[in-house]
Amino acid sequence: MQPQTSEVECVLPLRPQDEVACQRCEVHCDKVVYPSACLERACPFVYSYEDHGHTYIGCMQKVYDVELDVDLLRAAERRRGGFGAVRATHRPLPMCRVEVEACYATRGDELGCVNPEFYELPLGEPNFRIFAELKAS
Ligand code: SF4
Ligand code: SF4
Repeated sequence: MQPQTSEVECVLPLRPQDEVACQRCEVHCDKVVYPSACLERACPFVYSYEDHGHTYIGCMQKVYDVELDVDLLRAAERRRGGFGAVRATHRPLPMCRVEVEACYATRGDELGCVNPEFYELPLGEPNFRIFAELKAS
């Protein structure tokens, strides 16, 4: 069962860059990955199989958990907008093309994201931020 927002807010995000969804403010953000990039980047974790005359691909790491018809994927890629993204179900890897998509971006409050590390991609770890406070002398 999906936890209620009030329950989630109490949980300290120790490794937010590893999470695939966040509900810590008024919106709901999901990480999404672009399966077309798996082929473009020749990711070694792509698997494929044939069934009833169609070729399907998937991700061995289960970054996304659907299997896609390659012909339909390529046909969609030829159209404007392309195939698009699918929801990540496991932590994306550095070779994935990943973005954060807010389901209700217009409902965000004026403080903005309270979990900015969620947006950081898993390129190298551990991950940290440096803040500089500049004061006029
Ligand atoms: S690891 Fe990332 S790039 Fe590789 S197949 Fe899975 S989703 Fe695609
Ligand atoms: S805007 Fe930030 S805090 Fe709000 S749900 Fe998205 S990642 Fe979480």
